Amino acid sequence: MIKINESFLKLKDNYLFSTINQKTKEYKNKNPEKKIINLGIGDVTLPIPSIITKAMSKACEEMSDAETFRGYGPEQGYEFLREKIQQEDYGKRNINIDKTEIFVSDGAKCDTANISELFDISNKVAITDPVYPVYLDSNIIAGRSKKYIKELERFDGITYLSCISENNFIPELPKEKCDMIYLCYPNNPTGTVLTNEQLKVWVDYARENRAIILFDSAYEKYITQKDIPHSIYEIEGAKEVAIEFRSFSKTAGFTGIRCAYTVVPKQLVGYTNKGNEISINSLWRRRSSCKFNGVSYITQRGAEAVYTKEAQQLIEENIKYYLSNTNELKINLEKLGYKVYGGINSPYVWIKTPKQQSSWEFFDYLLEKANIVGTPGSGFGPSGEGYFRLTGFGKKEDTIEAIERIKKL
Ligand code: PLP
Repeated sequence: MIKINESFLKLKDNYLFSTINQKTKEYKNKNPEKKIINLGIGDVTLPIPSIITKAMSKACEEMSDAETFRGYGPEQGYEFLREKIQQEDYGKRNINIDKTEIFVSDGAKCDTANISELFDISNKVAITDPVYPVYLDSNIIAGRSKKYIKELERFDGITYLSCISENNFIPELPKEKCDMIYLCYPNNPTGTVLTNEQLKVWVDYARENRAIILFDSAYEKYITQKDIPHSIYEIEGAKEVAIEFRSFSKTAGFTGIRCAYTVVPKQLVGYTNKGNEISINSLWRRRSSCKFNGVSYITQRGAEAVYTKEAQQLIEENIKYYLSNTNELKINLEKLGYKVYGGINSPYVWIKTPKQQSSWEFFDYLLEKANIVGTPGSGFGPSGEGYFRLTGFGKKEDTIEAIERIKKL
């Protein structure tokens, strides 16, 4: 008899976006004449600069020529791309990362989920709350929680680091000892960031407790303020305790193309039951060579072209476009008396729902009264209750119209 991994049954149904779609569809059916504006989208909408797609077309052509055809590539990624990542993303910030510490992949989502395989099931996991759900769900699947406690809206055995307006969305160190700590900055969904000093607190904690930080910086390119770290490796000692995840998705518009990378420093060690040190880099390399055959050559040539001067300028313009949307939302909603967080270093604004409304009540209110769709904060975790996420990924004219509609409420 084939037995299943029963941990899957512990997962909460992923009903957030399906409920949003269902409610939106029902409203549309009842009110076909209304134009709905979707500011809930977490996907980029602007096209990819053609210098990138041209590089991909050229790589595609190479495949039909015997001289330039390529089959399986290196699992860790082609050297031409890892070299660019090393120089452009780290070297230019005076961060010394070796090419052998960079692993190119098909997404930060898979990497942030798969990384948990390297660690023993007994490790105590800490996540910020609200959170990008992948970190939590992947650890539930791995068996790191016995059960979901309905009354607490939390999984047993997982440490939730509450990030709410009362603590300025800065997670406090856990009271209990944690081993695997997931941090995402700039944060999805709150749009907030940590300063060097605030991030250093976590690096120091991890060093003292021989813990590991799994640092997701998928939105790093959205940072506009000067004193905000773009990489966790800007913090002294972080290479001993942190893995960093990056993605071309939200920066270069690769959500459909799929390319990302993970940095696993050579200094980073984990421990056997006997207390012997083992290189995490060698474990991740071993895992990759066992379960992955690399990202396509065509995609990697596209990612390489992201670093050309022309592409960098166009990507910067796209990011400015999204950020100007979040800026408009922030300024105008604040003028209307809303409490608005994030949006300065991130494509997300995080709103406190007015008049003590629940996240879903506010969702219904905005949909029915202004025909605007957003994302209820409670879908990202219990501390997201009473908050609401809007994104800057929509069209400029739609964002402006949404603001006008909210003004009229
Ligand atoms: N990390 C965070 C925090 C995200 O919000 C997302 C996508 O929304 C991802 C990772 C996924 O990145 P990728 O497209 O590279 O899988």
